[in-house]
Formats: sequence, structure tokens, C-alpha cells
Amino acid sequence: MLRFGRFVRAANVADALEVLKFRKGAQVLGGGMWMRLSDRTVPCVIDLSDCGLDKIEETDDEFRIGAYVTLRQLECDAALNVATGNVLNAAVRDIVGVQFRQLATVGGSVFGRFGFSDVICALLALDAEVELAEAGRVPLTQFVDMPYELDILTHIVIRKHDYRASYRCVRKAATDFATINACAAYWDGDWHVSVGARPAKARLLIGADLGLAPTAPAPAELASAVEAVRSLKYSSNLWGSERYRRHLAGVLAARAIVDAARYDSPEALEAARAVCAGEEAIA
Ligand SMILES: Cc1cc2nc3c(=O)[nH]c(=O)nc-3n(C[C@H](O)[C@H](O)[C@H](O)COP(=O)(O)OP(=O)(O)OC[C@H]3O[C@@H](n4cnc5c(N)ncnc54)[C@H](O)[C@@H]3O)c2cc1C
Repeated sequence: MLRFGRFVRAANVADALEVLKFRKGAQVLGGGMWMRLSDRTVPCVIDLSDCGLDKIEETDDEFRIGAYVTLRQLECDAALNVATGNVLNAAVRDIVGVQFRQLATVGGSVFGRFGFSDVICALLALDAEVELAEAGRVPLTQFVDMPYELDILTHIVIRKHDYRASYRCVRKAATDFATINACAAYWDGDWHVSVGARPAKARLLIGADLGLAPTAPAPAELASAVEAVRSLKYSSNLWGSERYRRHLAGVLAARAIVDAARYDSPEALEAARAVCAGEEAIA
């Protein structure tokens, strides 16, 4: 069972940061869904419910998602999902169940930097940054590999672009962790393909790494993207073997790219789909 020595409901982020820094063993509480799996006493837990971090705000240039926004809010926010190719909805809608998603937070999901994370995999392919109370804004690509510092994640920022994007994952059973997940997004003249649950943390490949230039990749370019995705490091655990993951990653990435791309003729789309179909057979 999870127990708390002290429970501090901070009035604002500055107060919360002070408690986090100066109370030994203090931890921020998100939805508590991951934390409650452990059997221990957290000396001091900090609740941010009064800090106004439970909103998704939209400006001309960006969406600013508060750390206490729940996965359910992320799933249901129409403006955010329309603007980002629906990848956030697709990434979270199979996580456990509605009641769970109404409690688990975006802040806890991103700060946790779990390798299996559907949320991080989807965000990584977009132009996303995290806002930390002390360190300020940090690109998500950089944050994913940062050590776990004593800091508070206050917001996720997604810059607006003309996103074309698609998210795919494979779960051995509904609501289980993903065996592998992938997200493809075309924005700012480049393809961005992230692959997570390898089972290590998600990795991002961009344009030239993938051999993808145009918005509607030809079969040869798709094949080179599949090869690039399969050249990432994969390993085995209960949810899948290294070989199975490597294979699936290529298939999911190809499907996501084709889904996100805009083909100007049915023949071009058919040729691209044939590459996906060809990749499906295990060698
Ligand atoms: C049974 C189960 C199944 C799951 N399945 C999936 C899945 O399929 N796909 C998926 O993507 N995720 C999955 N998750 C993870 C889940 O979606 C959340 O990411 C996870 O519960 C953490 O979110 P939380 O709000 O509960 O954070 P908490 O458990 O409250 O916190 C997690 C960690 O982050 C820290 N933290 C929280 N918020 C902040 C903040 N704002 N600033 C700094 N530190 C902070 C906490 O101190 C703690 O160390 C699963 C979790 C569980 C328990």
C-alpha cells in the first residue's frame, strides 16, 4: 500500500517547488495511478490541484496543456485533436479504461518517461516541449533523456503546424501495455516518426534519417523508412521478443506514414499500401 508522511496542497507552483526542493523525499502527486502500485511511504507528497494546471489553453501559435490535465481530457479535446491529426486521442483511448483516464494525468505520464508510454510516443512526433518550474522550456526530445531532477512539470506545449499525422500501436490484449507503438507526423516540410515500447524509451527519426522527403512517399522511400525504423535498438520482455518488435515497428511505421501522407492519385496510394502489405509477412 502507498502511504504519505505529509500531504501538502500547494497554493501555487512556486510554493510547490520550494517544498519539493527542501523537504527530503518529497514527490509531486499526479493522478497517483502509477505511484499507488508501490508499497512504501512517501515522506511528503505535493498536490498541485490548486495551481490551475488542469486546462488545455489555445493561442494563435500553440496548445498549452497543464500537467493536471487528465488523459481523458486529452482524448476528448476536439480542437487539440483536430489540429494534431487525432494522434493524442488514438494514443490514449486504449489506456486501461475511462475511469482510469479520468485520473491519470498528462504531467505524470510525461514526467514518468515510461518506455511503454503511448502519450510520449505520440507527442514526440509533434513539435512539443515541456515546461518545467525551474528548468523552463525544454524540447520533449531532450527531456525524454534527461535525468530525473527535482523539478515540477507544469505544462506540455504543442506548437501549431499544418500537421498530417497518424498513431499506431499493437496490444496483445485490449487495455494491456503496448507491445510496440509508432507515430508518424509530417510538419514543417519534414517527416517525424517516433517508435516506443521498444521496450526502451521512444526514439524519434526525422526526414533524412528515414530517407523520406516528399509529403507522399513513393514505395522505395517507404521501404527505406521501414529499414531505418528497424535499425533502432529493440529488446525482449513479456510483451514481445526483440525480433517481433523490430518487425512490427516497421509495419506500424509504414502504415502510419501512408495514413498521414496525402497521395494525389488512387494508384500512388495503392502502390504505397502494397509496400505496407509486403512488410507484414515475417521473414
Ligand atoms: C495499470 C496501468 C496501466 C497503464 N497502461 C498504460 C498504457 O497502456 N499506455 C500508457 O501510455 N500509459 C499507461 N499507464 C501509465 C499511465 O497512463 C500514467 O502515465 C501513469 O499512471 C502516471 O500518471 P499519473 O498521473 O498517475 O502520475 P503519478 O502516478 O501520480 O506520478 C508518476 C510519477 O511522476 C511524478 N509526477 C507526476 N506529476 C508530476 C509533475 N507535474 N511534475 C513532476 N513530477 C510529477 C510523480 O512524483 C511520480 O514519480 C498505465 C498505468 C497503470 C497503473
